Amino acid sequence: MFEKVLIANRGEIALRIHRACKELGIHTVAVHSTADADAMHVRLADESVCIGPPPARDSYLNKAAIISAAVITGADAIHPGYGFLSENADFARMVEDHGIAFIGPTPEHIAMMGDKIEAKRAMISLGVPCVPGSDGPVTDLETALKLGKEIGYPVLIKAAGGGGGKGMRVANSASELEEAYRGARAEAGANFGNDVVYIEKYLGHPRHIEFQMLADTHGNVVHLGERDCSLQRKHQKVLEESPSPALNSAQREKMGKIVVDALKKLGYRNAGTLEFLYQDGEFYFIEMNTRLQVEHPVTEMVCGLDLVREQIRIASGAPMAFTQEDVRLQGHAIECRVNAENPETFAPSPGLIAEYHTPGGLGVRVDSGLYSGYRVPPHYDSMVAKLIVHGTSRNECLMRLRRALDEYVVGGIQTTLPLHRRLTRSQEFIDGNYDIHWLERWMGLKK
Ligand code: ADP
Repeated sequence: MFEKVLIANRGEIALRIHRACKELGIHTVAVHSTADADAMHVRLADESVCIGPPPARDSYLNKAAIISAAVITGADAIHPGYGFLSENADFARMVEDHGIAFIGPTPEHIAMMGDKIEAKRAMISLGVPCVPGSDGPVTDLETALKLGKEIGYPVLIKAAGGGGGKGMRVANSASELEEAYRGARAEAGANFGNDVVYIEKYLGHPRHIEFQMLADTHGNVVHLGERDCSLQRKHQKVLEESPSPALNSAQREKMGKIVVDALKKLGYRNAGTLEFLYQDGEFYFIEMNTRLQVEHPVTEMVCGLDLVREQIRIASGAPMAFTQEDVRLQGHAIECRVNAENPETFAPSPGLIAEYHTPGGLGVRVDSGLYSGYRVPPHYDSMVAKLIVHGTSRNECLMRLRRALDEYVVGGIQTTLPLHRRLTRSQEFIDGNYDIHWLERWMGLKK
């Protein structure tokens, strides 16, 4: 087992990783920008290294600074968390070249899944169902028009290097295709430095359902059930739950077997998530995330496993201590992402936390680096906390979540807590009756 792990991240996820390390008897090294000197992950870590000024490109994305920090402190592994360098194959390779373990998949698998066209090709060859679409990049408008006709409108133009819902445009007809095609390419180029796009059938009313996977270096692969992440705003997840209200155990078992077999054939290692759209009883693969995800706690709450602990054990070469048959999915869990934002306009709301009180009690978990007197810096993602609640049934979970949301006090800045309080009282959400478009419609943002 490792003796010292460097955590190449910030905020709640850095804290989350620190906690798993401490429970394994591992020393932790936090890295931080000058804006994060007072952050909780820095305060709690055994050691900390300042790696640069506030902009992420100079600190949390600064590969050389992070690897130097690991070398200087004698860390034997690096956990990248999510975001930042977590899906950067070059970083993973550099880490390993320095004789440090990367707590994640191989650089080759990160690169493969980071190119969404290559990822889809791989999944098709592994027997995983995908959204119908182009079988490679679409490099000119004529081909796009031909494909539009073949696939049938509406179609979606997507960026091969995409992420965070950027570089995606819908075309409802051939006449809309030119603008969508050019728009998607321009946005992809501007955001990812890569304007390669591909085309997919645009599904009208899917749910977003993803499978959590774990694979060790001894050929064992398990799935830990699914998460329903259909509640999205601008293709960004707002609230997640497990299990999905739309799946039964037969469907879960069938899809679970397909994804386990695929990752076995691929020789994948560590944690990963296969994301699907689910519509009219069919699954369609859209992408694979080769890292821990923001919403991993809902899976932990229903399966009783610590995913970060498993990631660390796997990276140290240990075989998983359980098989698929041992995995028991119990009860129901929901996560609310709490952002430092105006709950109506979603304008960022950084600043001083004047008052802070977290909810507690049975089945309630708060993953956050917030504390009273902390100043939320304006430089990073606005998610500042995750409230995760577990209950024996979906209804119990929902009742508990509402009371926990009512107890939660974050004073001094604006947060999306009021949105979650309303959302968890809306009839469609209570009924579990929603698709990926529902939230924006309910908020009056979309027809
Ligand atoms: P990103 O990597 O930018 O997050 P994804 O491929 O994961 O992109 O898609 C993000 C979201 O966009 C999905 O959760 C879904 O809401 C929507 N989406 C993606 N592909 C399609 C599709 N073919 N039809 C309808 N909606 C889609």
